Amino acid sequence: MSIDVDPDCIFCKIVAGELPSDQLYEDRDVVVFKDIKPQAPFHGIIIPKSHIATLNDLRDEQAELMGRFFVIARDLAAKHGLPGYRVVLNTNAEGGQVVFHIHMHLLGGRQMQATLG
Ligand code: 5GP
Ligand code: ZN
Repeated sequence: MSIDVDPDCIFCKIVAGELPSDQLYEDRDVVVFKDIKPQAPFHGIIIPKSHIATLNDLRDEQAELMGRFFVIARDLAAKHGLPGYRVVLNTNAEGGQVVFHIHMHLLGGRQMQATLG
C-alpha cells in the first residue's frame, strides 16, 4: 500500500519522523501521538500514515481504516486506564479542524462536559 504525503503537512512530517512526537501507538497504517496542547489529562491524536486531508476526502474503500481507529481508541483507553473517554473528529474550518490531515482525538482522564460544540 502506498502512502500519500503532503510535504507541507505537520502530521505527515510526524509520520516521517521529521517532527518529534510523543508516540503512543504505531502499526502499518496508523500512528497515535500525544497532542502538543492537551485538552484533557489524556489527549491522543490518531492518524492514518497516509495523507487524507479531511473526512470529506475519505474514499469509500478506506472505511475499514477509519473503523480501526475506534478499535485502537478502545484499546488505548483500556491500556491507559480510562473508564470513560471521548473521540472527536473535526471536519473543515467550520467543524473546528485546524490540521488538515484527518485525525481522531481521544480525550480522557477527567469528566467530559455535556457541551460538544
Ligand atoms: P484539530 O483542531 O485540527 O481537530 O486538532 C489539531 C490538534 O493537533 C490540536 O489539538 C493541536 O493541539 C494538535 N497539534 C497541532 N500541531 C501539533 C504538533 O506539531 N504536534 C502535536 N503532537 N500535536 C499538534
Ligand atoms: Zn498529512
